[in-house]
Amino acid sequence: MAIISSKNSGDPAPEPRPKAARSTARRSAPQPSLLDPSATVEEARIDAARPAEAADRPDDRVRPQRLGDYVGQQDLKDVLTIAIAAARGRQEPLDHLLLYGPPGLGKTTMALILASEMGVACKITTAPALERPRDIAGLVVNLQPGDLLFVDEIHRLPRVTEEILYPAMEDFRLDVTVGKGQTARTRSIPLPKFTLVGATTQVGALSSPLRDRFGLIQRLRFYEPAELTHIITRTAAILHVPITDDGAAEIARRSRGTPRIANRLLRRVRDYAQVKATGPIDGPIASAALELFNVDPRGLDWTDRRLLSAIIEQFSGGPVGLETLAAATGEDSQTIEEVYEPYLMQIGYLQRTPRGRVTTPAAWKHLGYTPPHDQRSILT
Ligand code: ADP
Repeated sequence: MAIISSKNSGDPAPEPRPKAARSTARRSAPQPSLLDPSATVEEARIDAARPAEAADRPDDRVRPQRLGDYVGQQDLKDVLTIAIAAARGRQEPLDHLLLYGPPGLGKTTMALILASEMGVACKITTAPALERPRDIAGLVVNLQPGDLLFVDEIHRLPRVTEEILYPAMEDFRLDVTVGKGQTARTRSIPLPKFTLVGATTQVGALSSPLRDRFGLIQRLRFYEPAELTHIITRTAAILHVPITDDGAAEIARRSRGTPRIANRLLRRVRDYAQVKATGPIDGPIASAALELFNVDPRGLDWTDRRLLSAIIEQFSGGPVGLETLAAATGEDSQTIEEVYEPYLMQIGYLQRTPRGRVTTPAAWKHLGYTPPHDQRSILT
């Protein structure tokens, strides 16, 4: 699979998250965050028919290339295995697919794998880069039959661009307006049959006409520690990093259920072990390294702890509205909602209630506070 230009060009190589990137710049204190949701808005075209060169980039060596290498997400793999076999049998492109879930869970990776399994090229872009109708028009007219177009952060598509996609997805047709005023006419340009893979962290923010045009809508879930241990062991083997099972399990426990974070933490621990240790990465080395990088035993980093302690200290545990919490912590509300909250909710430290965000007794205890007796009544 050859990458002509990639949005993920090395380590650290987070996915395009323009809003989140802005918020990173606005953070009140320059604490290192291993979530690091910074942004690069570029396009990539990945040609599944031409193998080899991708292996030159560290991130792409680590990224699974085939469905068999993609760890976990069994339900998703089952659904897509059938979809691939059926599409291949009919010699048609795959149905349009919407993948949703928090950042770093493998949406882009799955799109690349699908292209690879179907033997087609994958064109990668991100919705904020498609500001004008001609941005999306330029992309779709250049697709080859069967190609896969991956649009990240698809819930951020501007309305005008989104409307161009409707006939393109449904009838493989591009409707363009020629001329101005009374002489304006609409012309239809036929498009090759292609597959749109949309990725989003906010499926609820998608308009229903757009959502309805996806034949498959699949959610990615957080990974189990055993699955992350597997991913870390696999990445360590690719990067030639000696690691014990305990070492991989320790990193997995602190990876917030997210492969991107697992791989990033492995690289940080590798650096630490290179300087401070002689043998392979084992449990104690991984634990000491991650303490140094401010990642606690539940995988919470400085920002997670700051969000929770702000709710506890300034709002007596909540409820507190998202915007108020954002103002109190100097974080961007969208970043809080899309990047930090999903995992805090997953591990039962935070709840979203109709009246606002509430910390749970488990969060109080984790941060060393004694939960008040009436905390239960807030949560019910
Ligand atoms: P997303 O698009 O959901 O933000 P990515 O697909 O970019 O996430 O995944 C981030 C990184 O995590 C990839 O570079 C890949 O190495 C790793 N990764 C993601 N999912 C898996 C998986 N199921 N198995 C192994 N590695 C994975």
